[in-house]
Amino acid sequence: MKIRENIIIKGIVQGVGFRPFIHKLIKNYNLSGWVLNSNQGVEIEVEGEEEELDSLIDDIKEKLPPLARIEEIEIVKLPLVGYKGFFIKKSKTKEENSLVLVSPDISICKDCLQELFDSQNRRFRYPFINCTNCGPRFTIIKDIPYDREKTTMSVFKMCPQCQNEYDNLEDRRYHAQPNACAHCGPQVFIYNRDGKIIENVNPIEQAVKFLKEGKIGAIKGLGGFHLACDATNDQTVLRLRNLKKREAKPFALMSLNLEKIEQYCEVEKEEREQLESRARPIVLLKKKRDSIISSFVAPNNNYLGVMLPYTPLHYLLIKDNFSALVMTSGNFSEDPIICDNQEALEKLDKVVDFFLLYNRDIFNRCDDSIIKIMNHHSVFFRRARGYVPDPITIDFRLKEVLAVGAELKNTICFSKGRYIFPSQYLGDLKNLGALDFFKESIEKLGKIFRMNPQIIACDLHPDYLSTKYAEEIGAKRGIEVVKIQHHYAHIASCMVENDIRERVIGVAYDGTGYGDDGKIWGGEFLLCDFKKYFRIGHLRYSPLPGGDKAIAEPWRVAYGYLYSIYGKKAKELRIDFIQRQNHNILSIIEKMIDQKINSPLTSSCGRLFDAISALIGVRDKVSYEGQAAMEMEAICVSGIEEGYKFDIYKENKEFIINPENIFKEIICDLKNGASKGVIAAKFHNTVADFTGDLCVKIREITNLNKVALSGGVFQNRYLTERIISHLEKEGFQVYIQRKVPPNDGGISLGQAVIAGSK
Ligand code: ZN
Ligand code: ZN
Ligand code: FE
Repeated sequence: MKIRENIIIKGIVQGVGFRPFIHKLIKNYNLSGWVLNSNQGVEIEVEGEEEELDSLIDDIKEKLPPLARIEEIEIVKLPLVGYKGFFIKKSKTKEENSLVLVSPDISICKDCLQELFDSQNRRFRYPFINCTNCGPRFTIIKDIPYDREKTTMSVFKMCPQCQNEYDNLEDRRYHAQPNACAHCGPQVFIYNRDGKIIENVNPIEQAVKFLKEGKIGAIKGLGGFHLACDATNDQTVLRLRNLKKREAKPFALMSLNLEKIEQYCEVEKEEREQLESRARPIVLLKKKRDSIISSFVAPNNNYLGVMLPYTPLHYLLIKDNFSALVMTSGNFSEDPIICDNQEALEKLDKVVDFFLLYNRDIFNRCDDSIIKIMNHHSVFFRRARGYVPDPITIDFRLKEVLAVGAELKNTICFSKGRYIFPSQYLGDLKNLGALDFFKESIEKLGKIFRMNPQIIACDLHPDYLSTKYAEEIGAKRGIEVVKIQHHYAHIASCMVENDIRERVIGVAYDGTGYGDDGKIWGGEFLLCDFKKYFRIGHLRYSPLPGGDKAIAEPWRVAYGYLYSIYGKKAKELRIDFIQRQNHNILSIIEKMIDQKINSPLTSSCGRLFDAISALIGVRDKVSYEGQAAMEMEAICVSGIEEGYKFDIYKENKEFIINPENIFKEIICDLKNGASKGVIAAKFHNTVADFTGDLCVKIREITNLNKVALSGGVFQNRYLTERIISHLEKEGFQVYIQRKVPPNDGGISLGQAVIAGSK
């Protein structure tokens, strides 16, 4: 029997060659009708025999184009109208409030790469070559549906040849929105540090020449600028460090291929897969000893962040020229990555010797993503380019929520129906530029996804700028504001991305989060579902003499612990830590603690790591967040199985982990001359031990067998793997974060799901 069907396909179906795919597929059938892009996704209308229509749907699901993803198919049966043939109709753009998924940016595909270096190809060495299967997407999209006029490519008029490809259904570039060539598309330019264009040179060849001479360049990438230099040149890397005012935080590297990377890093199987994935993230890899890479790239760190080239421009720069380039974000300290040509020329002129620019605008700025493999799975440290704006899909419906996250490493999230859209990494909101980026992203993502939030979710911390923003907007627009405890949001985030709906034991280990009792939490055991949570255990409170200052100066945290354990006798301990401190200042610290002056109490696990790092002489002061713990992880001696003693006691309804014995035994080890690396490993083991022991105690009371781990401390691979194996040996099912970072970049996801399921 002949029927007509209207089929709406939702998911990533625009800008990925979906319509030509349908058009080609239809040729195998005796069907007529049309296909178009709409605000909902792709809409198809076909007439024909019922069996043919059914098998068409199966075919669509099975043979999808590489970048496409189907989330939902809606079919409505309609009366016959007698279509003749099959054609692609003009996009429909009227409907409000609908939702189309947008593809993230995709690294250059094999076909385009081959053409790039083919001297016979008309795009030979053209730095903006792309096709339906690759190229910029999210970073150039201003609105949906994804058509050229709604991207930053709209200002370039295609030449007849490009237009032919664009219109030809059989062509790899059919409806490839950023399609271009040297005659009609974007161009590169090279400027000197004074902002003057250097004429009569090939800009890319000139940039290569400069980089080889040891110069530093600002190079426009996909989501923003990189600061680039030869990673094997000590002098240049050090100069970049000084100019960028970045004392120790590692720089990312880019190398042509795996072979080059393996010259200076160990690459495991899962790491290779991530490096080569089309998202092309920065992957944190173990350094090899005595490599050609300058030691100033990542001082005191045994990992290097490395990525493969992902744009044609990168390939043209690096191929045949460099073992590795430093490719660090083009910004100052915590400012957002610079993405505008003029802004780069104005702000980066003190740092770089030249600028390699091009005239296609970046609409949505987006940093490189950062991944580390733990327990054979990839864990995000930063989720941005290559992944955003992919949603997290869930199997239940949420209210429309705008979740504004926390403050450090912030992201925001929108939820709509069965989707939650995390934004790209936005940075530390205390920085004015990042706060603007935060507001800008709320606006831009809100527009693309046609958001109309009924609820704004934020952190409990009254001073976070995100909280203040939520309150302001909530009051202005009459939208309900829901405040969510920081560590509860961490655990909910881990739960939702792992499809857990029932109550779990949540272990949240991080640096700082505002607690229900007004104290600083961060070593928390919670019983959670999406409706409510209960704090069932935590690390014992210890003072943070100096408050925020103690975060930058871990020796203060260490002394806070020692003073609470040994009292005035702490100063007499015969260990290097005490000997190298100024005793007058230690006395002042004692007074601050006694009189409770600027010495808030914290149960933070991150601070415990800081304290031990200072105590054993790894780092007294830090220049970036997490440095003390990271450097301590780096020195852990492998193969150590012992740990230190600790005790867990009960106070009211809460379990308290008391680390007093850990300090005492470490001091013993220090006096006996044990190595830092051995003590560091034993300390890590101890944290895994008390985590496991307390989870067992909690299971005895609650019968819960699922443990969700979240918080910035779980960026520590040694610790995370140890905790997982410990818990699994005890028979627990253990969940970690894989789709969003365990650090505060994952907070907004948790907030959205808690607020949206109320
Ligand atoms: Zn391509
Ligand atoms: Zn052209
Ligand atoms: Fe946190």
